[in-house]
Amino acid sequence: MASTVRKMLVTYALPYANGPLHLGHMTGLIQADIWARFQKMQGHDCLFVCGADSHGTPIMIQAEKSGVTPEALTETIRTGHKEDLAGFQIGVDNYHTTHSPENKALCESIFLAHQKAGNILQKSIHQAYDPEKNMFLPDRLIRGICPRCSAEDQYGDGCEVCGAIYSPLDLKNPRSTLSGATPTQKESVHYFFKLTAFAEFLKKWTHEKGHLQAEVTHKLDEWFEAGLKEWDISRDAPYFGFLIPRETQKYFYCWLDAPIGYMASCKNFCDQHPEYSFDFYWKKDSTAELYHFIGKDIIYFHALFWPAVLAGAGYRTPTTIFTHGFLTINGQKMSKSRGTFILAKTFREHIRPEYLRYYLATRLASRIEDIDINFGDFEQRIHSDLVGKFVNIASRSAKFIHANFGGKLADSLSEPELFKSLATAGQPVSQKMDALEFSDAIRDIMALADQVNQYIDSQKPWVVIRDPERQQEAHGICSMGIQLFRQLMVYLKPILPDIAKNAEIFLNCEPLCWADSQKPLPGGHSISEFKPLAERIPKEQISMLKVKDGE
Ligand SMILES: [Zn+2]
Repeated sequence: MASTVRKMLVTYALPYANGPLHLGHMTGLIQADIWARFQKMQGHDCLFVCGADSHGTPIMIQAEKSGVTPEALTETIRTGHKEDLAGFQIGVDNYHTTHSPENKALCESIFLAHQKAGNILQKSIHQAYDPEKNMFLPDRLIRGICPRCSAEDQYGDGCEVCGAIYSPLDLKNPRSTLSGATPTQKESVHYFFKLTAFAEFLKKWTHEKGHLQAEVTHKLDEWFEAGLKEWDISRDAPYFGFLIPRETQKYFYCWLDAPIGYMASCKNFCDQHPEYSFDFYWKKDSTAELYHFIGKDIIYFHALFWPAVLAGAGYRTPTTIFTHGFLTINGQKMSKSRGTFILAKTFREHIRPEYLRYYLATRLASRIEDIDINFGDFEQRIHSDLVGKFVNIASRSAKFIHANFGGKLADSLSEPELFKSLATAGQPVSQKMDALEFSDAIRDIMALADQVNQYIDSQKPWVVIRDPERQQEAHGICSMGIQLFRQLMVYLKPILPDIAKNAEIFLNCEPLCWADSQKPLPGGHSISEFKPLAERIPKEQISMLKVKDGE
């Protein structure tokens, strides 16, 4: 049992509201969700918020193409995200949007605080402009010939063939992907955030123990050496976002308002739940713990800009930012052309989402390595670990308890030492879960499951039960099976919430918390009917996944 109840706020990087969630999103969401559920099971007060990142040029353009407003587009997509989250048992307490009144108010007040403190400057810049669409063009909407290697059809910000990084103004034969027109240059006054003013603060913050993984700190050192730059936080109309105070044609860049969206989602939740206080989580020197889970592609925004934006506006800074690697499928980058791009919805329509949660947990660690789903290995892990080892313990024991002992457990533990050894093993498992070493934790839990199966195999209850003289002994063995299964279920519950819910019905017990692993069910406890908790995956279900979204 937790000696002190910690107040924790967990976030996951807001998915962009221009399309449905895919397995890349689910990887990080599942990691954050397992961790948040683990903390809740420890008795901590852990709030988990997320939301849709709803602003920016790509959303504006997509809405225009579909003939709907960006508001309508992002709300439809947000609804789809919420269905996927529910399908994968991602227990977010709130899934808000960056296009919300809470976010608007927070963005404005944070901007004004920085402006007052002298952290914002304005300067004139030259940018590519589409003379037909009458808008400034983001780098990604310009294509042309690479100035270095002459590869055709490269983006405005860099060449995918030779890796050169350049300005879209350097491209040869540039054209706007919106109209096909040759971009012109136009001058505009932009707002910049003086990141350089926070250099000392950030150097200290990124090196303080606990804020970042060591690999991330090293990466940031490279950026510090290269020198921090002022950050352009404004975009010209037309843009889908929030207008900058006192402006009519200039908007906040969506990367300024996206992380503020964590605060907005929390604010929206607190406003509906008076027992929670927004200020408690976000005020300077807050004692609440703040954890952000992100992918490795957005480290710059979260580890440099975000702490500076918060600290400079008088808010607390994050406790820890956890960065994860990218998802690969059968060793390949997720790609539509290779047929390895899988939507969350497609997956859950074919395979029980709980199995992805389990499989990813067997692959997840605290390092920032890429995570691979190999479908052959996936199938094998589900069959051998979940069905063969874990659930089998309950099914083989429940059968005799119901057939021979009226569904009641024995009056006492016949092997108290074995129960104690599984209880003691909960300590290292919980340390590993807390340290995000899920893969190691599962290895421990499956070794315990092996131990339990060996116990049952050696006791042979199916032989003992046939001897009328040895009924009590058989009852003891099968009851031990149920008690030990329950301990394993406690350890797996953050990973398998749906299986846990069904196991709680079977065990006829209250929702399991971590401390329940230390105490057996009382003697004579009645269990309910056993229904299969996990089943083998038919071969064709896995093969169906491979083609679907690649089209
Ligand atoms: Zn090139």
